[in-house]
Amino acid sequence: MERERVTDYQVIIIGSGPAGCTAALYLSRANIKAIVLEGLQPGGQLTITTDVENYPGFPEGILGPKLMDLMRQQAERFGAVFRALEPVENVNFRTHPFEVQTDQRLYVAPAVIVASGASAKQIGLPSEQALQGFGVSYCATCDGFFFKNKEIVVVGGGDSAMEEATFLTKFASKVTVIHRREELRASKIMQERALSNSKIEFVFNTTVDEVIGTKENGVTSLKLRNLNTNEVTDFATQGLFVAIGHTPNTAPYVGQLELDQAGYICLPHRHSTVTNIQGVFACGDVVDHIYRQAITAAGSGCQAALDCERWLTHQRITERWGLAQGEEERVDT
Ligand code: NAP
Repeated sequence: MERERVTDYQVIIIGSGPAGCTAALYLSRANIKAIVLEGLQPGGQLTITTDVENYPGFPEGILGPKLMDLMRQQAERFGAVFRALEPVENVNFRTHPFEVQTDQRLYVAPAVIVASGASAKQIGLPSEQALQGFGVSYCATCDGFFFKNKEIVVVGGGDSAMEEATFLTKFASKVTVIHRREELRASKIMQERALSNSKIEFVFNTTVDEVIGTKENGVTSLKLRNLNTNEVTDFATQGLFVAIGHTPNTAPYVGQLELDQAGYICLPHRHSTVTNIQGVFACGDVVDHIYRQAITAAGSGCQAALDCERWLTHQRITERWGLAQGEEERVDT
C-alpha cells in the first residue's frame, strides 16, 4: 500500500503519555516542529486510572484522563501536533532521516523520541485470552462498572493489584486477591488500604491455572493451584482482573534499538536519553522498569526533549529542516 509521506516535522514523538506530552511541550516551546503519534491508547496508561493523588500540583488529586487532557492541551498551545489512532507498524532507524511507518502514513524526520510506554501483562493462559472482554479484564477503571454486586478476583500482589482491588469494591460485593507468594509486593500504604477493606479477601501462595466460562455467560469460576500443596480447586467467581505488571511496548524497535532482557530500551549514556542510535531518544515507562510513575515519566520526557533539541542544534539540522535561521537557538530550560 502506498502511504502518504509526511516530512513536515523535525521530531516524531511516539507515544502520548506523560513522557510524550512533556517532550512535545518542551520541543514546541523551543520552536521545534514536533508530531506526537498517540498510538491506540491516546494519553497512555493514565487514561485507564481514576484518581491520581501523587502528581504534584493537584492537592485534591485529579482524574487520570483529565490530567492527560491538560498535558495534551498544554503542548498543543505551543504548536505540537497530535495524531490519534495511528499505531506505529515499523521504524527504520538505519537510515537518516529516520522513517516511522504507521498503518496510514510514512513519517520522515531527523529525530525521534520513543515514549511508547508499557502495556498490562497477561498470565498467559489460553482460557484467559479466550475470555478477554467476557469477564477477564486488565483495567478496573474501564470495566469495574460491569461487575456491580458481583464477586470477582484480582490477581497480583503489587500496587496495581491493591489499587484495582480497592477500586473494584465500589462495584463488586466481594473482591478476592489471589497472589502467588506469602508476602505482598505492594507499598505499605496500598497494602494497608486493601487489607483493612472488609470487602477484600486474600488468598496467598496460589496461582490461576484456568479460567472457566463462556462468551455467553462470562467467567463462572477459576481453577486455582495452591503452590504449597499443589492441590487444584474450583473457585466460583464472576470476573477476573489481572494486575500483574507491565511489558514495555518495544516490538517495532527489536533489532534496531538496544533492548534489555525484559524488552526495555537501554540508554547507554549516563545522564542522557539518547539510545544506541544518535538522534533517537527514549523516555518514560519504555525505559523505566523501576520508578514507573507519571511524574518520573514526565521528567524524563523533558530530558529527552532537551537532549533532542540540543542534538538537532548541534547537528545544525534545525536550520535545514524548516526553521528560520536564528530561531533554533531559542531554548527554554
Ligand atoms: P509489580 O510491582 O511488578 O507487581 C506485579 C505483581 O504481580 C507482583 O506481586 C508479582 O508477584 C505478580 N505477578 C507477576 N507475574 C505474575 C504471574 N505471571 N502470575 C501471577 N502473579 C504475577 O507491578 P505493579 O503492581 O503493576 O506496579 C508497577 C509499578 O507501578 C510499581 O513501581 C508500583 O509502585 C507502581 N504503581 C503505583 C501506584 C500508585 O502509587 N498509585 C499504582 C499502581 C502501580 P511477585 O510479587 O511474586 O513477583
